[in-house]
Amino acid sequence: MGVVEEGPVRISAGQVFTCPCCGLPQDRVPTLEQDWVLLEPGVDVLAHLVPAEHRWIVLSDGRVTVYGVCPPDAQQRCRVEHRLACAGQELPDLWPWLTAMREENARRSEREANTWAEGRAAAAGRGGVAGRRGIGGVPTENDTPLVTLSMREAAYHLPEAPDAPAQLVAATTDALVDVLGEDIRRQVIVTLVGVPDGRTGVAGTPA
Ligand SMILES: [Zn+2]
Repeated sequence: MGVVEEGPVRISAGQVFTCPCCGLPQDRVPTLEQDWVLLEPGVDVLAHLVPAEHRWIVLSDGRVTVYGVCPPDAQQRCRVEHRLACAGQELPDLWPWLTAMREENARRSEREANTWAEGRAAAAGRGGVAGRRGIGGVPTENDTPLVTLSMREAAYHLPEAPDAPAQLVAATTDALVDVLGEDIRRQVIVTLVGVPDGRTGVAGTPA
């Protein structure tokens, strides 16, 4: 972990190398595990700012190892592995447990969306009492959505929208299909109700 596998290019004496991915000079430091790692030169930060598996601390002999104390001592500092800051490399998964939680939430979200859609489909078709619906003279239990849109009659006759009723029927049907699926389209019944002026009231007063 934390080890660059391809050898970097040595550009001068000492321990300065260039990163093969971005070309910037890096410190090539031996690790306790008899390997080596590229660290950001001159960067030394408080350990708690760095994800737990990536806190490189310097030992007395100059080698580095991953700091194993968790939670970290408040004053503990660590070095930062270059691959976490390299513009030429993809960031590794720094928080695997959050990644797992995000994936589980994605599955939950999908399950709940499916449950909601199924519930809406059932509610749309079975709002009434069994046996009270018929198609072609035959009682049916089909999940047929019935939508009633009620507006002032004048709203259907706006000069700027001469085909408002047809558009409302089409758009309402499309909205149901978006949620319930294409299979439902042929069964959707949309009723546009026009309310004459003076036939509605709010809080007991005609409006
Ligand atoms: Zn780099």
